[in-house]
Amino acid sequence: MFNSLKLKLTFINVGITGLIILFLTSGIYIITRHNLEIQTRQLMLMIASDSETEALYPTEGEERNRLNYFYVVINNSGKFTKISARVPMPPEQIQILADTALNSGKPTGRLWLQDNKSLSFLISPEKNRTEATIVFVSDDYENKVLEELLTALIISSLFGLTLVFLSSLYVAEKALRPIKKSWERQKNFVADASHELRTPLSVIQTNLEVVLDNPHQSVENQEKWLDNIKKETERMADLVNDLLFLARADSQQKILLFKEFDLDSLLVRTLKTFEPLAVNKNITLKSSIYSQVKLWGDESRIQQVVVILLDNAIKYTPQTGEITLELKDAGNSVEITVSDTGQGIDEKHLDKIFERFYRVDDARSKKSGGTGLGLAIAQWIIKEHHGTIKIESLPEKGSRFI
Ligand code: ADP
Repeated sequence: MFNSLKLKLTFINVGITGLIILFLTSGIYIITRHNLEIQTRQLMLMIASDSETEALYPTEGEERNRLNYFYVVINNSGKFTKISARVPMPPEQIQILADTALNSGKPTGRLWLQDNKSLSFLISPEKNRTEATIVFVSDDYENKVLEELLTALIISSLFGLTLVFLSSLYVAEKALRPIKKSWERQKNFVADASHELRTPLSVIQTNLEVVLDNPHQSVENQEKWLDNIKKETERMADLVNDLLFLARADSQQKILLFKEFDLDSLLVRTLKTFEPLAVNKNITLKSSIYSQVKLWGDESRIQQVVVILLDNAIKYTPQTGEITLELKDAGNSVEITVSDTGQGIDEKHLDKIFERFYRVDDARSKKSGGTGLGLAIAQWIIKEHHGTIKIESLPEKGSRFI
């Protein structure tokens, strides 16, 4: 798909450039031909005025540095009264040319000879009004210049078009690279999302079948299956929420509402909501929070990040562990740290941990209700606040999200 698009873009570019080149080269050619015609005309006018001072049949060998030209002076009855010194053909043939020029009824024009050669002519009446000078100039020079110009224009146009083709191919490749990458990412995202949704759906389906197979059993008796359905439905709802969030984030929708808020009180409030969970798991929650720290940002999204990090810390820290939430004010920036004494993460996973659906231990994460999207969402939110999120972790020692 991308290869044909690349070629299409390249050919459109080459086509447009080709038309521009054709327009420019035609212009150059037409202007040059017009200038050459003007020059020939001026030359013929000069020769016509010179002819009046020349003798009939001037001496052989008279030097002229003009181009290939000749002239005749003709009287009312069509007879030559003068003819230039050097003529390229016998007088009878010149007579035929002169008659054709006179019969054309035009003061200037072109006459075609054999072997595709041509002569330009100009008829200029003499002062005595009984005679006229007809000047003939060979078009060889003009044709040669035009031919050379045409060859040069064709060669340079072809060369230019080849360069345009190659550069367009390069530019199209470069321009399509990020689109290709995001398309691949989107494709993988859809595939992963469908895969993730299939698991809870099939669990729901199997449990429902069990319930429906025992229509006479009470709800109480079927609680186990109904509970499974409830849990999976909740998991699916979480997953769909996360997917919707990322889809809106990807489509550059404005989902953040910036205002100034108290970051320290937000952290204290959020930490409090985790107390029951921590007590349940016999985990100690600690905090070191700078007071009166103001932040310009989206309060609920920053809270979402802290929730994701604290939730993970609780999930991946065993009983009797310790979780610490810190907030430092560094003048123009703030630093929030969530550290735990949990299972930690092996170094080889650290650079992938923020990728969508990436889990170190798939089964364990799913069991604890993880969607594998939490850290990807946290990273996006922090990035939108012009911040960075990083992790330091040692297996069996614990993790630190900064
Ligand atoms: P999940 O919903 O699976 O927790 P996340 O994106 O939040 O997805 O985290 C991705 C993975 O990173 C998790 O599956 C887990 O393996 C690992 N992880 C995240 N936080 C921690 C932590 N505090 N300690 C150990 N591993 C963690």
